[in-house]
Amino acid sequence: MARIAYVNGRYGPLSDAAVHVEDRGFQFADGVYEVWAVMDGKLADSDGHFERLFRSLGELRIRAPMSRPALKQVLRETIRRNRLREGLLYLQITRGAARRDHAFPAPEVEPTVVITAKPVDFDRLDRNAKAGVRVITQPDIRWGRCDIKTVGLLPNALAKQAAKEAGAAEAWLVDAEGFVTEGSSTNAWIIDAEGRLRTRDTGANILRGVTRKALMELARECQIEVIEQPFTVAEAKAAKEAFFTAASAFLTPVTAIDGEPIGDGRPGPVTLRLRDLYTQRARAGASS
Ligand code: PLP
Repeated sequence: MARIAYVNGRYGPLSDAAVHVEDRGFQFADGVYEVWAVMDGKLADSDGHFERLFRSLGELRIRAPMSRPALKQVLRETIRRNRLREGLLYLQITRGAARRDHAFPAPEVEPTVVITAKPVDFDRLDRNAKAGVRVITQPDIRWGRCDIKTVGLLPNALAKQAAKEAGAAEAWLVDAEGFVTEGSSTNAWIIDAEGRLRTRDTGANILRGVTRKALMELARECQIEVIEQPFTVAEAKAAKEAFFTAASAFLTPVTAIDGEPIGDGRPGPVTLRLRDLYTQRARAGASS
C-alpha cells in the first residue's frame, strides 16, 4: 500500500510530498519534531509527546499551527489513511517558508506541518532487542539546548553513522567531563552495583525522553530505585546491566560498550522484565 503523508493541510502519496526549498526547516533546521510509537493503531505515551512538542515550539517561539485536539485529529487521520496498526508516526513543524534570512520572518509566516507514518514490525524488533545490542561511545559535540527536540540532528546522525560503521546499534555521547549524556537518539541507562536504575539528570544537556519518564514511574511502582545521576563510561562498562530507551526502541538491552561486555554479555534480567512491563503498559495505555 502506498504511504500517505500530510503536508500543510493536504494528504497525498508520500512520493509526491514536498515542502518549499526556502522552508526554514531545510535552510536552518528551524523546526521541531516528535515521534510516537503506534500500537494497535493508537498513539503510545500520547500526552507526554504532545506536552514536549508544545514546549519545544514555545522554547523556539514557533507558533503552534493548530490546537492540540486538532493536531491529534490530523495524526489520527494519518494513521487511518496509512492503515497503520504497528509503527511510528513522525511529525515535524517548522517556522515556515520565507525569503532566506537568519532572523525570523517578519511578518510571521504559516508554520510548515509534515506528518509521515511508517510500519514497523514490533515483534521482530522485540526479538532483536531481546538478543541485546552493542553501543560505542562518541564525544558529545551538540549545541547547548538538547532539551528542545529540534530537527538539527547532524551531530546525532554522525554519531549514529559511526556506530553503524563499528557494527553497533547506538552511540552513547560523552561530555567534556567524561560523563555519558544520552544516546544519539535514545536515553542511556545503567543498573549500578547497588541495583539502582541510573540515568542522566534533566539539568544536563539532554532530551527529556518521554519513554524515560514513563519508565521512571514504572520502575518506582516496581520498587526499583531510580536515580538521576551522571555516570562515566568506565562506570557504564562496570555496570550490572545497561540499556537505552526511546519511543522507537522501547527499552533495548545493551550487551557491550566499545566492545567490552556488560555483565555476562547478555541482556540483563531487570532490563528484560522492565521492557516487557513497559511495552505491555504502553500498549494498554495507547490512545486514539
Ligand atoms: N534522546 C535523544 C537525543 C532522542 O533523539 C530521543 C528520541 O528521539 C530520545 C532521547 C528518546 O526520547 P523519547 O523516549 O521521547 O522517544
